[in-house]
Amino acid sequence: MRAILTYHSIDDSGSPISVSPAAFRAHCAFLASGRVRVVGLAELMQGDDVTGDTVAITFDDGFENTASMAWPPLADHGLAATVFVVPGHVGGFNDWGGRRTASVPHLPLMSWEGLGRLAEAGATLGAHTTTHANLASLGANEVADELDSCVTAMRERSGVAPSTFAYPYGGTSPMAAAAVRSRFTLGVTTELRLVGRDEDAALLPRLDMYYFRGPGALESWGEPGFFARLWTRRIGRQARAWLQAGGVA
Ligand SMILES: [Zn+2]
Repeated sequence: MRAILTYHSIDDSGSPISVSPAAFRAHCAFLASGRVRVVGLAELMQGDDVTGDTVAITFDDGFENTASMAWPPLADHGLAATVFVVPGHVGGFNDWGGRRTASVPHLPLMSWEGLGRLAEAGATLGAHTTTHANLASLGANEVADELDSCVTAMRERSGVAPSTFAYPYGGTSPMAAAAVRSRFTLGVTTELRLVGRDEDAALLPRLDMYYFRGPGALESWGEPGFFARLWTRRIGRQARAWLQAGGVA
């Protein structure tokens, strides 16, 4: 089975975007144990050549702690990873749209120099819009601008045009997916499931590692407990979305 793993911040706050450094180190030890094969995101999706248990590792937003807390154990184990960058906030903070979110810590993001060092060390940089915009709420021109200005900034500042994209907040629409499809090789969402066969490359699902941060959770990969956790989290998310929508089916 195949999966794309999502991390945001590696810190001890316990917030919904956080996995603790200790839990992350345990994840890295498992991922390097040989139980699963870790490949780059592009390699994971290259045809159906990839068989067996294979995962790709992704980090959204480009937090400084991706370099300071995540990269050392990844590098120690030789694990590939993709980091999705928000050019309008590079060197700043995760106060998207100038607003802080109460449930999420205010955290510094890597500078262009820091991103460059990480890329030199082997990380792949991907695009995450210019302003961390929710593409589901934008018109076609705004979507195009968020994507094109992001690619331009990354090409100018990092020297490499990104070929992969992550939707902020998982916000997508048929129009946004089409815009992503025409500009990038791959697009990843927050849809919580394994990668299946014949996936739309512009709308790939991922597993948010927040739900697998507990001891032994990721290590139960492929066992009944792993699928039970996935199923419970999916149902919980759907129930919350339904309630937030007013409970009207
Ligand atoms: Zn994000």
